[in-house]
Amino acid sequence: MQYYNANTLIYLNGTFVKASTAQTDLYGQSLHYGLAAFEGIRAYKTHNATRIFKAKEHFDRLKRSCELVGIPYNWDNKELIKMTYSLLEKNNLKDAYIRPLIYCEPNMTLVAPDKANIMICAWEWGAYLGEKQLKVCVSPFQRPNPKSTFVEAKISGHYINSILATTDAKKRGFDEALLLDMNENVAEGPGANIFIEKDGKLFTPALGNILAGITRATVIELCKILDIEVVEKTISVDELKNADNAFFCGTAAEIIGIHTIDDTVYRQRWSDSIGYTIQRAYKNLVLEKVNYEVII
Ligand code: PMP
Repeated sequence: MQYYNANTLIYLNGTFVKASTAQTDLYGQSLHYGLAAFEGIRAYKTHNATRIFKAKEHFDRLKRSCELVGIPYNWDNKELIKMTYSLLEKNNLKDAYIRPLIYCEPNMTLVAPDKANIMICAWEWGAYLGEKQLKVCVSPFQRPNPKSTFVEAKISGHYINSILATTDAKKRGFDEALLLDMNENVAEGPGANIFIEKDGKLFTPALGNILAGITRATVIELCKILDIEVVEKTISVDELKNADNAFFCGTAAEIIGIHTIDDTVYRQRWSDSIGYTIQRAYKNLVLEKVNYEVII
């Protein structure tokens, strides 16, 4: 996958520069210890214009992630959103994935820095987990213990855990991993939250051991509009495997159905599931189609 070419511009500390000539310091604390915060945002070409979906929510989470781990954040999010629209325009991107990254100065100590940098890049990216229902395995890797880090912060170092789980799943012939929390209850995917459907209701792990996904919050909002009951609670592996259906949700993955978990097959057809309804409603929402086109 080529993320940029000779003409691509990125936003770097207040100016637009060529991605191919932009530099970073090899002594940076982020590179050595994983102390950096980032976001994954999507822009959609709607019938109105190109729109960054939930831009404020993403930049607010970026700020909060930095605050939690002590990375100074002195940027104005309104200005950053403006700059991101400008970045899309300069690169002629309409449907795009946007990646802001806050990274630290050269520093070999283990003390949080007093200065940080921002870069924002964007590229065209299809559905991260594809369009087909997924074969998922319960990962041997657990999500980080919330007493070992701030799990609600989107910090680069946390993604070692996601890479280990995804690589293990792919090696074993699965499409994706599902990680449990430190108590062996269902947590989330390496880059997405999970919902399960049982007896006409949705269930999703409560906050505490997971990233508070913006798509997860959007699904909950959509369920309110569509009068679908959602329960946030602890979910055991037994409950997961006895569900009628399940799906992952995330900015990159959007809404994607799960076909199997290990050797358990969800027998209900995806097209009969609540997940399918939510998948269509989500698509309509991000594309700013007024009518959700959903009949339950
Ligand atoms: N969990 C993890 C671990 C993630 O990396 C992501 C992607 N940011 C999500 C959940 C979903 O979050 P969002 O809906 O905000 O993209």
